[in-house]
Amino acid sequence: MPRYDFRCRSCGATFELRRPMAQANDPAVCPQGHEDTVKLLSTVAVTGAAGGAPQQAPSGGGCCGGGCCG
Ligand SMILES: [Zn+2]
Repeated sequence: MPRYDFRCRSCGATFELRRPMAQANDPAVCPQGHEDTVKLLSTVAVTGAAGGAPQQAPSGGGCCGGGCCG
């Protein structure tokens, strides 16, 4: 689950929350109870599944493909 950093503009405290990405833009409440918070740009470690599917070589080479049995 991604982690988001917030900063409270009321008391200046910074805190982090773990929430689903669907709730990334939801307002966060400071641990002190303040609601005037802003979301900070944090470096979220995203594990990207790089790489592609292995390409399958075209399998040809039937007997009649080469005209050997005609
Ligand atoms: Zn606060």
